[in-house]
Amino acid sequence: METQSKYDIVIVGSGLGGLACGSILSQRGYSVCVLEQHHQIGGCLQDFKRKGKLFDTGMHYIGSYDDGQILNTLFRYFAIYKDVDAEKLDLHAFDVLNVNNKEFSIPQGIKQFKEKLIESFPNEKDGIKTYINKLKEIFSSVDIINLRDVNVFELAGKKGLDENVFEFVSSITSDIDLQNILCYTNSLYAGKKKSASLFIHAVISIFYLQSAYKLKHGGGQIANAFKKVIENNGGRVLTQAKVEGLICDKDRIEEVKVKGQNSIQAKIVISNIDPLTTMEMTTGGNFRKVYLSRLKRQEQTISCFSLYVVFKEKSVKYINSNLYYYNDKDVWGIDNYSEQTWPQGFMLYMKESKEHKGYAESMIVLSPMEYNEMAPWFDTEIEKRGDDYKKMKAQKSDQLINLIEKKFPSIRKDIANTYSSTPLSYRDYTGVREGAMYGVSVDNRNPFESQIQPRTRVKNLFLTGQNINMHGILGVSIGAILTCGEIEGINNIMADLRKHKQTT
Ligand SMILES: Cc1cc2nc3c(=O)[nH]c(=O)nc-3n(C[C@H](O)[C@H](O)[C@H](O)COP(=O)(O)OP(=O)(O)OC[C@H]3O[C@@H](n4cnc5c(N)ncnc54)[C@H](O)[C@@H]3O)c2cc1C
Repeated sequence: METQSKYDIVIVGSGLGGLACGSILSQRGYSVCVLEQHHQIGGCLQDFKRKGKLFDTGMHYIGSYDDGQILNTLFRYFAIYKDVDAEKLDLHAFDVLNVNNKEFSIPQGIKQFKEKLIESFPNEKDGIKTYINKLKEIFSSVDIINLRDVNVFELAGKKGLDENVFEFVSSITSDIDLQNILCYTNSLYAGKKKSASLFIHAVISIFYLQSAYKLKHGGGQIANAFKKVIENNGGRVLTQAKVEGLICDKDRIEEVKVKGQNSIQAKIVISNIDPLTTMEMTTGGNFRKVYLSRLKRQEQTISCFSLYVVFKEKSVKYINSNLYYYNDKDVWGIDNYSEQTWPQGFMLYMKESKEHKGYAESMIVLSPMEYNEMAPWFDTEIEKRGDDYKKMKAQKSDQLINLIEKKFPSIRKDIANTYSSTPLSYRDYTGVREGAMYGVSVDNRNPFESQIQPRTRVKNLFLTGQNINMHGILGVSIGAILTCGEIEGINNIMADLRKHKQTT
């Protein structure tokens, strides 16, 4: 049981955003306490072991991690770089795309990608150059990514936020195969053809093209590295500490109520959980009705079904790439399915065996799945969902393996064990609304609907996490900079961040 009851900063939720804020602020001398509802920290950084094999539940690959690149600089600034073991994915094929019965490997390096595209589609040279230049222009326009002082408030200055990916790509080429290659990263932000924002697309695409790494020991190592930094700076990271209420007096939070424990007082509270849930648990917060209705209206990204596979020893050759498989002729139909036609595609990656180099010990396969499919079990809890739920999971696993066999024809016989998780697992293990893979969906037709500021009407309550700024390792890390910037002055933070850029 925690004895201290007063902190400078209390952070609700130990996802990436909460931990990154905890690292920044504890390094700046604040006393920090992170409160996590589960027994394991990390949210989407959590991993788990089955039969001695480690599986990620969410985060598995990162980009722009070479010395001098943005994530490398951020991790050094967060003081976690030395404790994170990352390894480069295949230089010539970090992502491999199968669509319309064709395969295309994506090489690392913007130049290499551009050259390979031009070599493969010589008649489309001009369009390819326009595409790459546009993406680079958008990436360069983000002040934080480029370590510039933030002069315009970040959210107002997002270039390409209101442009549509498919419309832009169609305007530069009518070649369907090239369009597919240029658009496949939509899987990484659950982008839909009618609404995918070019800003999100450009940032994510360039981020991974610059360099792509896998996390050798799962996403959990990032969470543990953060915990170490926070604790080394005198802070606490407490598990099984579910926050049930934030109690306001006038326009300040006076008390943080923790389930079954004494309340905690904080000068500042940062919420790393869903903004609407945060508002709903804030008593006396006096939030504007229009703000709350906007939060309620926000569309969530699709959720997913995950299949965790343990292979028989030395049965499957290891591939150091992420594989994207689409059943359709283009990359936009993966979330458009019926019960009978699911799954319409998947993303797959393997873990190499330590004992038998060159062979895979396991793989993880993700396929988009609508939250509403889980309606019969909405009111159930982890491990208590009943036999019909187990039967549904077994059937979905089987359907997914059928599709995987289109890519790896004999893989079923190499499988020793499978485990799976559903949109409900994501909902209940992370607290993310509807188990949404990437939080709120950004719609280029109404981009500001999805944009939420870290500052709230309650003077000492700030927000962070994937619904502020953007999802993913880069989006959430930048979000943490913005949140801490509200407390410490954004350009003080930027000055510190710049000092951590490695020049080789
Ligand atoms: C399947 C999948 C694969 C992904 N792969 C990648 C990838 O390879 N690369 C990448 O960059 N991104 C990836 N992402 C996205 C990325 O993982 C997330 O955007 C990011 O980790 C979200 O961080 P967050 O700060 O919003 O916190 P979350 O991960 O949402 O964590 C929130 C935390 O708050 C806790 N919490 C909730 N309510 C309470 C409460 N009342 N009291 C206390 N604690 C509470 C939760 O238990 C949780 O630990 C993936 C996501 C998914 C789902």
